[in-house]
Amino acid sequence: MGAGLRIRSKDGGLALIESSIFEEEGFIAAFTTRMGGWSPRPFDGLNMGFGVPDDPANVRMNRTAALKALGLDPSAAAAMRQVHGDRIVEVTEALKGCGGLEYGKSFPSTDGMYTAIAGVALISTFADCVPVVVADRAARKIGLAHAGWRGTVLDVAVKLALRMGFDKGRAGDFMAAIGPCVGPCCYEVGDDVALALAGAGGAAALTAEGGKSRADLGLMNELRLIGLGFAPDRIERYEGCTSCEEGLFFSHRRDRGRTGRSAAIAAIAV
Ligand SMILES: [Zn+2]
Repeated sequence: MGAGLRIRSKDGGLALIESSIFEEEGFIAAFTTRMGGWSPRPFDGLNMGFGVPDDPANVRMNRTAALKALGLDPSAAAAMRQVHGDRIVEVTEALKGCGGLEYGKSFPSTDGMYTAIAGVALISTFADCVPVVVADRAARKIGLAHAGWRGTVLDVAVKLALRMGFDKGRAGDFMAAIGPCVGPCCYEVGDDVALALAGAGGAAALTAEGGKSRADLGLMNELRLIGLGFAPDRIERYEGCTSCEEGLFFSHRRDRGRTGRSAAIAAIAV
């Protein structure tokens, strides 16, 4: 684990969680909270997801505010429609701006994106699933993946790192930030999910007590990246829980589906 992810207050009442190791290398890896924004209940306030029944105009305003707070151009942002799969898209010049402010233009059936273009924000949305941001400081690339339990079993974060050119020989060039997700405190899983996670190398992220299994998906993603060859001190992971921290995060489980989405925002700083 690195120095840790820090929460920072921004203009307009926003509070964003940012990675210091990414910032030191000229990258942005940020995770939004629900603080600030224009969305009404139950999406209050900074709902970043178009896929929930909030007014899309609110989402556009919320995304614009968060991107501007990070010094990023909202019109260049790209986003994806996630399906708990492992399809990964490279955001090239031709694709920048797709889906950042318009849901219909986001990449369909995609759970990972990366880019080598500075200033292009990649946006992924979450309400308990694990956001994983990866960067390569030598090749100047950044990417992000959306890993719920299915994506974690599919090893989408590892696949993203490999697509970006991860090489054990220069592991020191790579870093990762694992954002807020549901913690093991609030993530009880059935036998099918526990077995799938254990089968995918996640036994160390599972605990069993009184016949119930709990999973720590954030930890499992961290261990998978370390298994690939990432240096533990080049990975930062948020240690809280989206379900426990109601004032900060949306939680699909806690709110029984009626809630908003936080975002992971990744970019090469301009
Ligand atoms: Zn919890």
